[in-house]
Amino acid sequence: NKPFSVNELREHFPILDQQVNDHPLIYLDNAATTQKPIAVVEAITHYYLNDNANVHRASHQLSTRSTRSFEAARETVCQFINAKSSKEIIWTKGTTEGFNLLTHVFAKQLKSGDEVIISTLEHHANIVPWQMLVESIGIVLKVIPLTAEKQLDLAAFQQLLNTKTKFVSVAHISNALGIINPVEEIISLAHQVDAQVIIDGAQAVAHLPVDVQTLDCDYYLFSGHKLFAPTGVGVLYGKQHLLESLPPWQGGGEMIKSVSFSETIYNELPFKFEAGTPNIAGVIGLAAAIDFLNSYDRKMLMLHEQMLLAVAESSLLAIPEVSVFCAGIPKSGAISFTVAGEHHSDIAMLLDAQGIAVRSGSHCAMPLISQLNCSGTVRVSLSLYNTLAEVNAFIKALKEVISLLKE
Ligand code: PMP
Repeated sequence: NKPFSVNELREHFPILDQQVNDHPLIYLDNAATTQKPIAVVEAITHYYLNDNANVHRASHQLSTRSTRSFEAARETVCQFINAKSSKEIIWTKGTTEGFNLLTHVFAKQLKSGDEVIISTLEHHANIVPWQMLVESIGIVLKVIPLTAEKQLDLAAFQQLLNTKTKFVSVAHISNALGIINPVEEIISLAHQVDAQVIIDGAQAVAHLPVDVQTLDCDYYLFSGHKLFAPTGVGVLYGKQHLLESLPPWQGGGEMIKSVSFSETIYNELPFKFEAGTPNIAGVIGLAAAIDFLNSYDRKMLMLHEQMLLAVAESSLLAIPEVSVFCAGIPKSGAISFTVAGEHHSDIAMLLDAQGIAVRSGSHCAMPLISQLNCSGTVRVSLSLYNTLAEVNAFIKALKEVISLLKE
């Protein structure tokens, strides 16, 4: 592993070195999507310039190379999340598609009255597909409430669990608040009633080491683009015996072993869930992103991010007009706040005028925002390439924005 230096690391992300509105860009919207290191862009370019061919289908040289890189990428992801087998790694377009895949195939085994538990702070991707099953099948969707400190209420969760609970589906890290949910406890409690657990890892994989075997989750979903990889590629991990027991989702080429007009035999894992030509370049880019991350000591990256987050939080808390959500609660990646009497989008727009990119609004978590009794928050989300100087510049700019608005 290379020793960690944020200046060395930033050289891999040339996009960061630019002026926005006559100020140096400070990119603090990493929970929405991360920037891509040169290694990822080069892996994709190399693929298109040298190896481009469809996978698994032909015996010619380019297809052999393309297939080899594509399947090596599956192995890279398998090791990255410590899955037992690469058969458990299914390529998707992203977390949203992962949820839609799962809910579509679960629909075939669920019946009216079966219960599914999600939580108050879920992203819409982990709400709406389940609501579609409420409409089509009549499942009952239950929601884990928040405590006064805006954390998942585990005592209330235990009250919701019963033998009718078939699935529990929660985020590893909240994209709106940045808090780390107690997924280990949730998984073990759910397993006591034989419910299966889906973890939305969209915000976690870039910040925490994820070990699906230690977690013992049944499914784990994430998107490549929040992990320094391109958009349009993501991962659905599922325990092999569970994936084997599920019917396929989309039909077409690749997901079949043989087709005749009287009978079609489906392919084995993981191909059963991968109908059609996949995002080959995206998959190769995702493996390059993981290799890039693994070239550093991840503990050092985490310490750096934790330091930035701690400084951001304590500095925000020191501004009298600012209310920080979940202050003092373990977080990773993001922190959300409001400014008394000011609209979140005004804050974000005025920060942008100074080259600072933050997110404002409901963060695709409208039910959570309505529980927080606000119209939206300002969210600052950090990544390994952010610097202490950037965090300090953001705080200084925020103070200026607040005094400007108070004039
Ligand atoms: N879940 C969470 C927690 C997220 O943060 C996001 C992206 N904002 C998603 C799901 C959806 O991911 P995607 O848009 O990449 O499918």
